[in-house]
Amino acid sequence: MQKKLLAVILLAGICSCSRNAITGRKQLTLVSEQQMEQLSLTQYKQFLSENKVVPASKDNAEMVQRVGSRIANAIIQYYKQKGTANEIADYKWEFNLVESKEINAWCMPGGKVVVYTGLLPVTQNENALAIVLGHEITHAVAGHGRERMSQELLAQGIQVAGNVALGNDTKTVNIFNNVYGPTAQLGVLLPNSRNQELEADHYGLIFAAMAGYDPREAIPFWMRMMNLAKSGQQTPTFLSDHPSDASRIEKLQQLMPEALTYYKPDSTK
Ligand SMILES: [Zn+2]
Repeated sequence: MQKKLLAVILLAGICSCSRNAITGRKQLTLVSEQQMEQLSLTQYKQFLSENKVVPASKDNAEMVQRVGSRIANAIIQYYKQKGTANEIADYKWEFNLVESKEINAWCMPGGKVVVYTGLLPVTQNENALAIVLGHEITHAVAGHGRERMSQELLAQGIQVAGNVALGNDTKTVNIFNNVYGPTAQLGVLLPNSRNQELEADHYGLIFAAMAGYDPREAIPFWMRMMNLAKSGQQTPTFLSDHPSDASRIEKLQQLMPEALTYYKPDSTK
């Protein structure tokens, strides 16, 4: 009964909804961005303490830093142009390469980015890495985790008080872990949502292009992912949440002309 009442109140429009600065889409926001960032930071720190971070001086780690920072800068620029720079003002960007056979990468709210070494043989080049990071970072700035967490809170009829820290609240921490995966499998936004995937592909291409990376590299990259899935040799974490099939590639091709209007090849690269 309580759940139903809450749902009615929310649907009546008294609810905490907000329009995302990037996508312009109205989202259910029952937790604040700050609450999400605080929950993320705990998981992120634990993850780094339990995994082998490749020293920043190593070539591939440097590449992850370089690609990540360029995409972050493109996003900051994009927000400035839209007059919404304050939305991500408290992002403290960090880019790490972590030793792991897994084919995976993620970005948590607040700008904490991790790439697994297992992804690099599939990306093969810096451009393709920019495609993956553009996609993953978009999930964070487009508030996808926050939206799913809010939907889950609503479904379970849990009300979150104001802007209080949620790190000690077992119920909300559990929901957060359902959305992002526990530390061991961190970063997999569950369950998969087509709408959010499309947004991440769309703006991910734009941000990669703004950062000076060729968005067209998305096509051969997702083809490699598709072949990997077909070969059945392994089911990468990233792939299980990012089905690569003809329809994804077709969609990317449709998005390409727009992304290319943002693309200025970088001669210093
Ligand atoms: Zn995704």
